[in-house]
Amino acid sequence: MMNLSCDVLVAGGGVAGIASAVSAARKGAHTVLVEKNCFPGGTAVNCMHRYICGLYSSCPALPCGTLNGGIADEICEEIVKLAPGTKPVRMGKVHLFPFVTGDFTNVLRALCEKQEGLEFFYETRIDSVKSERGNIRRAFAKGPNGELQISPRAVIDCSGDGAIIRMSGASYYLSPPEERQLAGFCFKIEGIKDPGDMAPVSVPYYISQAAIEKKIPCYLKYTKFYHGNTEGEGYCLMSLLPGENTEKTDEARKNAVKIHDILKRTISSFRNSEISGMSSVIAERDGLRMKGEYTLTEEDVLSGRKFHDGVIKSAWPVELWDIKKGPIYRYLEPGTCYEIPLRCLKSNSIRNLYCAGRCISASRRALGSTRVMGTCISTGEQAGLAAVKELRVP
Ligand SMILES: Cc1cc2nc3c(=O)[nH]c(=O)nc-3n(C[C@H](O)[C@H](O)[C@H](O)COP(=O)(O)OP(=O)(O)OC[C@H]3O[C@@H](n4cnc5c(N)ncnc54)[C@H](O)[C@@H]3O)c2cc1C
Repeated sequence: MMNLSCDVLVAGGGVAGIASAVSAARKGAHTVLVEKNCFPGGTAVNCMHRYICGLYSSCPALPCGTLNGGIADEICEEIVKLAPGTKPVRMGKVHLFPFVTGDFTNVLRALCEKQEGLEFFYETRIDSVKSERGNIRRAFAKGPNGELQISPRAVIDCSGDGAIIRMSGASYYLSPPEERQLAGFCFKIEGIKDPGDMAPVSVPYYISQAAIEKKIPCYLKYTKFYHGNTEGEGYCLMSLLPGENTEKTDEARKNAVKIHDILKRTISSFRNSEISGMSSVIAERDGLRMKGEYTLTEEDVLSGRKFHDGVIKSAWPVELWDIKKGPIYRYLEPGTCYEIPLRCLKSNSIRNLYCAGRCISASRRALGSTRVMGTCISTGEQAGLAAVKELRVP
């Protein structure tokens, strides 16, 4: 077994984890980042996202800067270097920053590799932690080179599903499956011929018809379609029931093939198309959230509330993918934004535990706004800074 001591241990190398680890290491903390996949980016990469949401204010005009700057800005600047001309696009009432998965992964990988003081362990999963007198003292992980025992001074849970929060015995929130948001599974299609602007409307229409006719499960009716960046490329984002989904990836793959067959039969431009990629796992929109020193509410979000310890700004709507009604959006007043207090990133029960990204201390409905990538990057950055700052307090 390999033994390792560090100042800050970051669990999970999704967007929040990368930002946490980089910001902690930049402040001089010896930082260890452990990621169970062989790539960085987590859900955003696995689910083939194409836009970073949550970066901008809710003004209708084209944004001239992001709300939080910092690492989120650096990531966007690096994406522009790889894909010159990339700029925010408006979709409905919001602005998004587009990217392609390959570039995004390269940017995240490079950000970590060039960061002094940061050790990254891929394909390594934290399986348990040992807490003593209200602090996490050790984490036990397994990777390609065997077992790893890490003794951290502070831990940031960026696992998306609150793995460390649960293992450490920290208090948390977990909504019952029927109240949780629809999960997602994405597949990529190539060889679509002249799909036209209406494909994002016609694809969901034919899929929902098939669901009504019971040819596919009912929950698939909220499946969406997005055009890709190159000719003939498109992405179907299937909506699935939330919950114990680790065993259901094969079923999702089979449903992806069924959906594609329906599209080939019903829409002429899809006739000769093929599936060229699929998510490796089903992605949950929400799950376990830490109980922090403060819990952000939907009212805080929609009223644009500010806090004395507000460290992150966001104007993303409360976007809830309801099991029965599909996506529902509740917007902030144009031009306003709310703040996330630092207390949402600090456990109320384990002293050296912080969290960032999808498992911050927020109500189920507030998480509908905070869970998007732009906000996750900024919560990650702030959790990294806070963890290091508090290590220095005697
Ligand atoms: C279907 C769907 C569509 C979405 N679309 C968009 C979109 O278009 N734009 C947008 O901005 N947001 C979108 N989101 C939201 C966004 O993808 C996520 O909320 C965000 O990426 C979460 O980032 P994270 O770093 O908190 O968690 P994750 O990306 O989930 O990363 C967590 C990481 O931790 C690792 N991990 C977990 N447990 C362990 C462990 N025990 N040991 C080691 N590693 C571990 C995982 O492998 C993973 O890499 C979408 C979400 C879903 C589900």
